[in-house]
Amino acid sequence: MTWPGVIGRFRDRLSVTAETPVVTLLEGNTPLLEAQVLSQHVGRPVYLKYDGANPTGSFKDRGMTMAVSKALEAGAQAVACASTGNTSASAAAYAAKAGIRAIVILPAGKIARGKLAQAVIHGAEIVAVDGNFDDALALVLELTSTHDVALVNSINPFRIEGQQSAAWEVTAALGAEPAVHALPVGNAGNITAYWAGYKAEQRAPRMWGFQAAGAAPLVWGEIIDKPETIATAIRIGNPASWETAIAARDESGGRIEAVTDAEILQAYRLLAHQEGIFCEPASAASVAGVLKFADDLPAGPVVCTLTGHGLKDPDTAADEFSELDAVPPHLDAVLEQLGW
Ligand SMILES: *Cc1c(COP(=O)(O)O)cnc(C)c1O
Repeated sequence: MTWPGVIGRFRDRLSVTAETPVVTLLEGNTPLLEAQVLSQHVGRPVYLKYDGANPTGSFKDRGMTMAVSKALEAGAQAVACASTGNTSASAAAYAAKAGIRAIVILPAGKIARGKLAQAVIHGAEIVAVDGNFDDALALVLELTSTHDVALVNSINPFRIEGQQSAAWEVTAALGAEPAVHALPVGNAGNITAYWAGYKAEQRAPRMWGFQAAGAAPLVWGEIIDKPETIATAIRIGNPASWETAIAARDESGGRIEAVTDAEILQAYRLLAHQEGIFCEPASAASVAGVLKFADDLPAGPVVCTLTGHGLKDPDTAADEFSELDAVPPHLDAVLEQLGW
């Protein structure tokens, strides 16, 4: 059977009817990989839900297929979002597929290069503002409440609805819920969506959310005015889904903790070197957290969501090597360089 996309697969659980025009790039159905090295490290079976394998390279596509389909159904000619990058890449692609405009408001200079390239090449109309993500979101809320433009940030309930599909795929693949489900937390839409998805199936893994230490409002219990982290996708000081993230933590008996940029980069390298998975830095926060708090893991399988593809942020990977000096085109020179 060919995969029909998130709406095609889960139509009976989503707010769509036969009249809803389905805008899909066949998102979802991403790999759930067994991570041997990580499993060894933590003494539990660890699986990676690799959502970087979605059409635009992040989990945002799961919700965007719903948000853009519902916007089209309502007659919208344009969608708009504020974004740390992946939401704009996804909105731009789905709007292109739907044949409508995408307007993107970005915090200037804070967007990973691959994501900006996607928004540009899909034809989004991009405005960079001199401010952080929270400023950009405030502007987009003002724009969409005063103009005929559909908001497709994660406060759009259809986004969260579609993102539940990842939890449903995990239970289908494992035949049960994991003991712990770990994921990075920025605006906290995804932890909200996973918990809603699990609850809809009467499942209750412990939800472990991880924020970057320089952008951890849910951990410290206060808004962070100038969030800072290398993990730009979770550089959020005032999460849009604050209360529902805390509810997911508390109802599931889970936790939301901080991991440092150094811990994130260590997990990022481990995943790439030893598991063969290239994810973006924010994604590695889930693995960094599981490694950091491994002693507290209950028995049973652990699932870590890897939210986005490593190619989203080529500069972070490129920083790992220095410029190569060319050698003469002879095997002995090559062997010398290899240290043989
Ligand atoms: C959006 C995003 C996050 C954060 O998800 P929230 O729903 O905002 O918590 C994490 N990682 C990547 C790669 C993202 O694109």
